[in-house]
Amino acid sequence: MRISLKFFLTVTFLLTLFTSIQAQRKLGVRPTESGGPLIYEQAAYDVQEYDITARVFPEEKKIVGETLINVNIVAPTNWFVFDLDTPFEIANVSYFSEKDFVEIKFKRDGGKIWAKFLQTLQPGENTTVRIAYSGNPRIAPKPPWVGGFMWEKTADGSDWIVNAQQNDGADLWFPIKDHPSDEPNSVELHITVPENLFVASVGKIENIDINENSTKTYHWKMSNSINNYNIVLNIAPYKIVAEMYTSVAGETFPIKFYALPESEEKAKDIVDQTIKFLKFYEKYLGPYPYRTEKLGIAETPHLGMEHSTVIAYGNEFKKDKRGFDWLMLHELGHEWWGNMVTASDWRDMWIHEGFQSFMDALYLEETKGKEAYLDAMRARVKNTRNMQAVAPREPRFAYQVYLAAPDYVKSDGDIYGKGSLILHTLRYLIGDKAFFKGLRRMAYPTKQLETYTDGRQNRFVTTDDVKQIFEEESKMDLDWFFEVYLRQPELPSLVIKQVENGNSLRWQTPNDLPFPMPIEIEINGETKRINMKQGRAEIRLKEGASVFFDKNRWILKKGKQSKNMKTQFEGYFKAINDHEIEKALSFLSDEFQLHFTEFNVNVDKKSYVDVLGWDKGANGRVSYEDLIIEDNTIKGIFTEKNDFLRILRINELKANIAFEFDEFGKISRQIYTPLPNQPSFQEKLQSVVKWARQNRPDELDEIYPQNQMKFNQKMAERWVRLLQEWEKSKAGV
Ligand SMILES: [Zn+2]
Repeated sequence: MRISLKFFLTVTFLLTLFTSIQAQRKLGVRPTESGGPLIYEQAAYDVQEYDITARVFPEEKKIVGETLINVNIVAPTNWFVFDLDTPFEIANVSYFSEKDFVEIKFKRDGGKIWAKFLQTLQPGENTTVRIAYSGNPRIAPKPPWVGGFMWEKTADGSDWIVNAQQNDGADLWFPIKDHPSDEPNSVELHITVPENLFVASVGKIENIDINENSTKTYHWKMSNSINNYNIVLNIAPYKIVAEMYTSVAGETFPIKFYALPESEEKAKDIVDQTIKFLKFYEKYLGPYPYRTEKLGIAETPHLGMEHSTVIAYGNEFKKDKRGFDWLMLHELGHEWWGNMVTASDWRDMWIHEGFQSFMDALYLEETKGKEAYLDAMRARVKNTRNMQAVAPREPRFAYQVYLAAPDYVKSDGDIYGKGSLILHTLRYLIGDKAFFKGLRRMAYPTKQLETYTDGRQNRFVTTDDVKQIFEEESKMDLDWFFEVYLRQPELPSLVIKQVENGNSLRWQTPNDLPFPMPIEIEINGETKRINMKQGRAEIRLKEGASVFFDKNRWILKKGKQSKNMKTQFEGYFKAINDHEIEKALSFLSDEFQLHFTEFNVNVDKKSYVDVLGWDKGANGRVSYEDLIIEDNTIKGIFTEKNDFLRILRINELKANIAFEFDEFGKISRQIYTPLPNQPSFQEKLQSVVKWARQNRPDELDEIYPQNQMKFNQKMAERWVRLLQEWEKSKAGV
């Protein structure tokens, strides 16, 4: 037996590398709500700035804070509705009216706080709301996916305090409007901590105050718009490892790694790698967006997160076998996909993760060649879940796209891997030239935008914007592409049928959605692209031609490899050789079909019981060799021996077999094609039939009515007995 070893090594190797973020994770707990439908009272204002003052008490795991939210009123409202997590107590809420702050009444409704202005504020007005609060922030149950605070210790026992909140929102630690559609134009933070600790946060450090009570206050300011979940604290006795980098746009800016003292040396290597990654991203996407801030990285006790200008890094400085740190590569790319180019509703979060996962694979192409890229993409297909649309049309809470329905305690993963595969297929469809121009325009729609650093480079996008840009670049209508791949969950499947002189091809989609995806076909080593206008085509084939459809797997479609195909395959063969029919059947899907290409005959699962029975009655023995696994199919050479054949002096029959597996690891189709020049038992059987007509006519009538064999266990046993009699009679002659 020879399962292609190279294949297994490649696939398992790549899978372990690439599933780290995108594979399904059991989190066991659901994040709090972030985003979702935006209520009128929260749509009525536009946040200009958050000014956050907080003192962090490591001993008590507590925060005492005050946040100023400066807003422009955009629709008449007498309510100010903001979000703050339930563990906090709110001391008071006030807003700036005329020339001073006036305290106002508020009521709490779970995580939403309704504060009532003294009068209805009108569009065009600007005000600042001040909220004083305190409490113990939620401790992160599964950071970074289910967020909150982490109160950890460094090697020497110092405090190491970090938070993460992508799926929950920053209302886990300060009062905000928790919706991705509203980013502040700037953020200021004034964070007070014990004097041995350093606070690393977003933007630039403005000042450090040394206070009399053995504390320090760190003043940070981000002068760019920012997703609220990126506003975080990283508190530890950090050491700074710094390097300067000159962008393709010309500006020089610092790369700063805030490392634990024990990690200082290792952090240098990450900074070196980051410079390589930066060059890659700037080449394909344009300049690093936050050149007037910094490129920051902070060591965290959780895996990582794309916190803008202060990326969370917790991958333990492990280089993988490809020689780089995949996490750093991934999170850095989010400065473009997610932080600069931002989904205005979580329903479009795939633009963050799918685009970035595509970049992760593109980096392999850049550094290791096209095959490495294609391998990475192929390895992702089997992890697609296809249970929920990648980009639903309705507003979504973050956990609804990140995690899997119905209970949202496991990650879904399709916004990562499937998102990247959709871009991979788009690249194939429209070609590299249009695709890479579109990719860059998705990052920076114009050259002018590449020159901005004051926030104007940032923008909100939707899935329709993605479609529009790639339609403009390709001059193709891509509506059908986005409908099938992004707006509904099910993958298209390619239905191939034998017809006279060739194959008919048809795309099958849910609700017969149009899907005119051209297919690359390799016939006898020559590749061509077949148009599938109306989703159909016919190809002519000479007899014996070798044909591969979409050999490189550019097209995301059904036919994913099941995890346990090989084990299932071996179990199935053992059951057959042990003649345990029930057990053998348990490896088959209910839709199972045995297809004999020779006669173009299908046998369904019910009738297959008789085939297995025949095999048992004839004391059959099967073996296989030269196995290869391609996608969802195991192929090989199959050898069959049994008493029926043996008595007819046929040592064995050999055939090509292919087993197709469904997504549950069940065998859904077995295709049987005899190898050329196999002995024909029908021919040899004729002398037996002739003998039986004279000597056992009644038996022959029953087991060979109208010269047809019936395949089941009883018949096999009777045939074997008849053959034995024939053999004896011959011996007696
Ligand atoms: Zn990501």
